[in-house]
Amino acid sequence: REEVVLVGRSNVGKSTLMRELTGHSKFTTGGKPGVTRSPNHFDWTSENFMFTDLPGFGFMSGVEEERREQIKTDLVRYIESNADDVLAAVLVVDGKSVIDIIDRHSGPDEIPHDVELFHFLWDLDVPTIVAVNKMDKVDDRDERLDDLCDRLGLHPPWKQWRETIAPISAKRGDIDALNEALRTRFHEQKRDDLLKFV
Ligand code: GDP
Repeated sequence: REEVVLVGRSNVGKSTLMRELTGHSKFTTGGKPGVTRSPNHFDWTSENFMFTDLPGFGFMSGVEEERREQIKTDLVRYIESNADDVLAAVLVVDGKSVIDIIDRHSGPDEIPHDVELFHFLWDLDVPTIVAVNKMDKVDDRDERLDDLCDRLGLHPPWKQWRETIAPISAKRGDIDALNEALRTRFHEQKRDDLLKFV
């Protein structure tokens, strides 16, 4: 079984994205998998493939330190106990506000939650894709995405990181970049699985 977990603050568009993802995967399993080529088609989606929203992890801001630590502990436990199934994590951010939020929360004693979560998932060896949502509201697209790379500790330009940075607009159904990044992860995983038997 393959599982993709979605994490992110509230209001970044996780539910909208989830609807978009699962709507299309239902469409896929009901139709002719691997044949139709519609823009957001999951032609690699197996029947057992699933997306898991991790509720609670979106509510990191405004909660006290103790609760945040608990949320993180829960996240680690969840991923550790499902490690064999978890193909990737999708960290959803709001492209319009993410840089401001990160910069506002950066300081000598403070790491912004999105940045922390990103590193944290990498440390757990979970391939993490940052779905930069609401790109329909962003004018300076390349600059914004380069800034995000910089804040995440990835060397700009963002175009070098297409497997990690996926600009999307869930509301408009434009999630090709995320599909592409997931497809890459999926193929990498399949290759690793095959190599185990060599
Ligand atoms: P969640 O709290 O992360 O699950 O966020 P929701 O899916 O409920 O979305 C929060 C708000 O953002 C809603 O008003 C959505 O219509 C809006 N939204 C979601 N995706 C997009 C997008 O791609 N572009 C724009 N402009 N708005 C979006």
